[in-house]
Amino acid sequence: MNDSKTYVTRPWLPPLSEFLPYLEEIWRNKTLTNNGPFHQRFEAALCEHLGVEHVSLFCNGTIALVTALQALGIEGEVITTPYSFVATVHSLVWNRIEPVFVDIDPHSCNLDPRAIEAAITPRTTAILPVHCYGTPCAVDEIQAVADRHGLRVLYDAAHAFGVRQHGRSLLAHGDMSVLSFHATKVFQTFEGGAVICRDARSKAQVDYLKNFGFANEVTVVATGINGKMSEVNAAFGLLQLEHVDQALALRAAVDARYREQLALVEGVHCLPRAPVDTDNHAYFPVLVTAGETVRDRVYAYLRQHGVFARRYFYPLISDFPMYRNLPSAAPERLPVARSVAQQILCLPIFPDLPLDKVDEICRLLALALESRHAA
Ligand SMILES: *Cc1c(COP(=O)(O)O)cnc(C)c1O
Repeated sequence: MNDSKTYVTRPWLPPLSEFLPYLEEIWRNKTLTNNGPFHQRFEAALCEHLGVEHVSLFCNGTIALVTALQALGIEGEVITTPYSFVATVHSLVWNRIEPVFVDIDPHSCNLDPRAIEAAITPRTTAILPVHCYGTPCAVDEIQAVADRHGLRVLYDAAHAFGVRQHGRSLLAHGDMSVLSFHATKVFQTFEGGAVICRDARSKAQVDYLKNFGFANEVTVVATGINGKMSEVNAAFGLLQLEHVDQALALRAAVDARYREQLALVEGVHCLPRAPVDTDNHAYFPVLVTAGETVRDRVYAYLRQHGVFARRYFYPLISDFPMYRNLPSAAPERLPVARSVAQQILCLPIFPDLPLDKVDEICRLLALALESRHAA
C-alpha cells in the first residue's frame, strides 16, 4: 500500500499564472475591499452563472447566515435540522434565536417536511433547512408549510452551489439562500460566502448589514456587521468560475466510479442522488449499514491506510453540549438523524482524485468490512 494521504477533499486551484494578472490589477488600482471592481464583477458573474438575480457576497458562509437572519427579522424559534455542519445552528444562537430540531428524511437526509408542522409553536417565525450534500430539500412542501403558518424560509445552501432542478436554480427557493465558498466546498474562494435574495430591496438590506449598516458616507441605517468579501477573494472567485464546470465534470466521473465499484460491496449503501438537472457531486456519502461500531472501525481502517474519510455529520448538532438540553434535542425525537449519523461516512471526492485511487479506496472499504466478518 502506498503511504500518500488522501483527504476527503482537496481544493481545485487554477494555474497560478492565471491568477497573477488579477493580482496585478488589484495592485494597480489599489482598491482592496468595500465593493470594489472585482467584487462587482464577481457578483454579476455569479448571478449569471447560477441563474439568480440578486447575490450579496460575504467573507464567509457563517456571517452570511447570521446576517440573512438579521435581514429577515427572524426571532423567537426557528425549526432546523440536527444533521448539518454546526454553523447552521450557531447562526441562530448568534441572533438569540432558539433552535427547534426536527428529524430528517432517511433518503434525502434533509428536514422531513411532515415533521415540521408538528414542531410549530406561536413563537416560531421561520424554517432553516439545509440542502445536505447538495441534495434538494422538499422545497414545495416546505414552502407550503411556511405559507400556511406565515413563516420565513432561509435555506442553508452551503453544499448546493450550482445545483439546478426543474429548470431553475435550487437557490431561487425560500426567502433567501446562503452559500459558502470555504476552501473545502465545491466552489471556493479560500474563505467566502453569499446570500441569494429574491429582490433588490432585500439585497440592499443585506448589503447595508454586511457593511456596518452604512447606506452612504454619513447615514447608518442598521446595526450592521463587517461581512464584506475582499477584492482578492472576489478576483479569485471570478477566475474560479471559469474552471468550475470542468471541476464538476471531473467530480461526476469520481462519483460514477464509486457507484460502479461499490455496487458489489456488501455492507455499504451509496446514498442515491435525487433527480436534478445539474448536480455538483460535492460529497460522496455512504452508509455502513452494520452501524456505528463497524462504521468507526472502517473509518479507522481507512485512516491507517492513508484515506481520511469523514463522518459528516456525526455527532448530530443536537448532541453538542450547548444544544443537548433543548427539549427538541431529545434523542427519541430524532431517530432517523441519529441512525444516519451512526452509519454515515463521506468518502474522498475532488476533481483530480485519480480513478484508480477510487478503486483502491473501494477495495480498502471492502477489506475493512470483510475483516469485520473475520473478527
Ligand atoms: C461550510 C458550511 C457552513 C459554514 O460556511 P463557512 O463559509 O465555513 O463559514 C454552514 N453550513 C453548512 C451546511 C456548511 O457545510
